[in-house]
Amino acid sequence: MTTPTIRLRQMIGGTWADGAGTAERSENPADPDGAPVAEYLTASEEQLEQAMAAAAAAARAWDRRGLLSRGQVLRRAALLMEDRAEDLAMLMTREQGKSLADSRGEVGASVETLHYHAAAARRPNGATYPSSHPDEVVRTIRRPVGTVAVITPWNFPLQIPVWKIAPALLWGNPVVWKPASDTPAMAVALTEILVEAGVPDGALNLLLGPGHLGAALVAHPDTAAVTFTGSVPVGHSIRDAVVPRGAKLQLELGGHNAAVVLPDAHLPSAADAIVAGGMGSTGQKCTATRRVIAVGDCYDALVGELADRVEALVVGPGADEGTALGPVVSAKARDEITTALQQAIDEGAAVLATAPVPDTPGHWVAPTLLAGIPELTICREEVFGPVTTVLRVSDLDAAVELANATDFGLTASVFTRDQRTARRCVDDLVAGLVKVNAPSTGSELHAPFGGLRDSSFPAPREQASDSAAEFFTVGKTAYERLAPEEDS
Ligand code: NDP
Repeated sequence: MTTPTIRLRQMIGGTWADGAGTAERSENPADPDGAPVAEYLTASEEQLEQAMAAAAAAARAWDRRGLLSRGQVLRRAALLMEDRAEDLAMLMTREQGKSLADSRGEVGASVETLHYHAAAARRPNGATYPSSHPDEVVRTIRRPVGTVAVITPWNFPLQIPVWKIAPALLWGNPVVWKPASDTPAMAVALTEILVEAGVPDGALNLLLGPGHLGAALVAHPDTAAVTFTGSVPVGHSIRDAVVPRGAKLQLELGGHNAAVVLPDAHLPSAADAIVAGGMGSTGQKCTATRRVIAVGDCYDALVGELADRVEALVVGPGADEGTALGPVVSAKARDEITTALQQAIDEGAAVLATAPVPDTPGHWVAPTLLAGIPELTICREEVFGPVTTVLRVSDLDAAVELANATDFGLTASVFTRDQRTARRCVDDLVAGLVKVNAPSTGSELHAPFGGLRDSSFPAPREQASDSAAEFFTVGKTAYERLAPEEDS
């Protein structure tokens, strides 16, 4: 039975409205010739102005609601999301392509994230200081930063928006959200949940449309803060638009994450973690393992373990039981990965292992393990797909130097049984997240997340409630002195 195409609308000032722009659609990456997943008209620049005005109009009442009441809205959203978990997972797999197991995991983590930020409303959120004056209290307070522009990618179409939108709303800010064009139905599904949970008119506005709509949103003079996850070039163009006018900015960009494997490592478990980190979600994670650096004489045994696992990966429609890797998100993404892979081979890389892909029209890319040298383009530039290159070095110093020899600094992992080696890597690998004996991918939703160098922008990090509070508020220090008593 064919699943009907969903008609999507924009959310502006509490009203679902048709876009005033051009017709667009999202497709099923496992069945691009089938019926579209969703169809919609894009938002116009005039509708962007309407959304910004609605956000400004909603700001004061949303602020006055208070933290605990806003936390209750997030808790209701978590419960609604849990009720709809299976439908959301099926939609995610249909629109983004990932396996149903991955989609279910993402929905579950998004529910937890909503609960986490709901509970964060009850945490202490300021400090008091002694005053030189006996009748005075000095305390720090947090105030909403203002209208927050949220721009999100397609690879985690629910989790990344929730990481950003939940704390932005909790701290009393109105939000204007432009999601990725490849996953608009997921964006509408999340917006429906938040609106149904009680986010008032104008406090959350959703604009579906192309990248230039995002550019207009971040450049808008009323945008007080921007939180973005996506590619380096777009991130840098946003930085150039936002920083000069003093708005707050949080960027989570790409990575070129290395896994360093020492000869004393437990190789079967290292190989499990590397294949999960490099190939999981069809390699479409900014934290994916792109390079494996084998130290000393472990190279041959490690390659054997890795090749066995890559060859056993089952690629297929995400909705099929037993599928480990779904298709990549779009024909454009598939073509970019295939071109980069061919370039690597032309530059001298050797294919160590691949897995078969279905013989159907989906956007399939075979997971590929390469043997290479550091000079390959693929060892410098991020290829957002299931491709990992194995390199060899003689010792730990060379491994750390090579791991750090990129413009990125998102995640890194090290596999060893030696605590001193692990400690050295935790200290010296230039990465915002360092994992020991664990995949480069995956993070706790309550621990600070973010990269270094071109992977990020110096700002309070994502996920953890403390750093989220810092980003989505401005701090003030209040000196509150009692008025003199009447008769003094
Ligand atoms: P983009 O950076 O192009 O897109 C991310 C988001 O930004 C989307 O919502 C996109 O809208 C929007 N956008 C595009 N152009 C602009 C602009 N000029 N100003 C403001 N917003 C804009 O990433 P892609 O999804 O196209 O993926 C390309 C590459 O980005 C990947 O191959 C990968 O290297 C990297 N990437 C990194 C991710 C991460 O988690 N760090 C996630 C996804 C991608 P629209 O979809 O309408 O173009």
